[in-house]
Amino acid sequence: MIPGPFTYHRPSSLDEAVAILAAHGDEARPLAGGHSLIPMMKLRMAAPDHLVDLAGVASLRGIDAEGGEIVVGATVTQAELIASSLLARDIPIIREAALQIADPQIRSVGTLGGNVANGDPGNDMPALMQALGASYVLYGPGGERRVPAADFYHGAYDVALEPGEILAAIRIPVPPPGHGYAYEKLKRKIGDYATAAAAVILTAKDGVVSHCAIALTNLASTPLLATQAAALVVGSACDAAMVVGAAEAAKAVTDPAADGRGPAEYRREMAGVMVSRALAKAYSRTAR
Ligand code: FAD
Repeated sequence: MIPGPFTYHRPSSLDEAVAILAAHGDEARPLAGGHSLIPMMKLRMAAPDHLVDLAGVASLRGIDAEGGEIVVGATVTQAELIASSLLARDIPIIREAALQIADPQIRSVGTLGGNVANGDPGNDMPALMQALGASYVLYGPGGERRVPAADFYHGAYDVALEPGEILAAIRIPVPPPGHGYAYEKLKRKIGDYATAAAAVILTAKDGVVSHCAIALTNLASTPLLATQAAALVVGSACDAAMVVGAAEAAKAVTDPAADGRGPAEYRREMAGVMVSRALAKAYSRTAR
């Protein structure tokens, strides 16, 4: 199928983009890599009359260190995340997760901003951003505001963006040197969304976990922070019994749909497996 007719806009500044969006209200949508929006338009699940292409807005590009954070512009592609030496050094889980998204063709145009703004529970970056404690910089007619990734997702395709707002950047606190990390994703084949996936970030001192964050992808209508599971791990040496307990606690917060990836029970079980693997791998990567 081909999409319905639309008017294409290519602003060169954020203010111009916001003004076009504000002028057309619900009939306009930002366009980033187009690898979620265009398929939805082809399926008639979205039919915006106006597409506001963000590709010409220079201020939405770039990956920069600022204080203790790395600031990623919304239109940075998944391929650029993978190629970034700054991210590979300071927040390597981003590269690990981005390499598990779709395939090289999609990663070369799909953006971090589009991935997190879309609100698709199957997207991999939202849970990862929650595990990292990232916040989103939103820019609209009323100016700029910041929303933690943990508060951004209200339901499937229902996010905290107000009409006319654009996600301008993602601010990610740099975890301490020597932290452990892992993104474990079960999928049916290359290019598929997760049957279940888990992101783990943890810090250990003298072998004892002092901080842990666990987040889950495609196991409910929103990404999930498994806070109770993470709390169980803190203070432990991530031994086998603790990992089993944390995996059970993580499973308890899931509410997966039954779909072509399997029945809900299977996907919940796989959530536990992904959490177990991610915890073990993350712990093995800590500097001890
Ligand atoms: P677009 O498609 O351009 O936009 C998506 C939505 O976000 C639209 O509603 C748009 O209006 C809005 N939007 C975009 N940018 C902004 C912004 N800056 N501010 C406000 N709103 C904005 N993703 C995964 O995570 N994991 C996968 O395994 C995976 N597999 C895929 C397999 C296939 C075959 C395909 C086609 C896609 C797959 N994707 C997957 C999705 C892919 O990563 C998309 O590129 C991504 O989800 C959306 O990014 P985009 O830049 O293409 O956004």
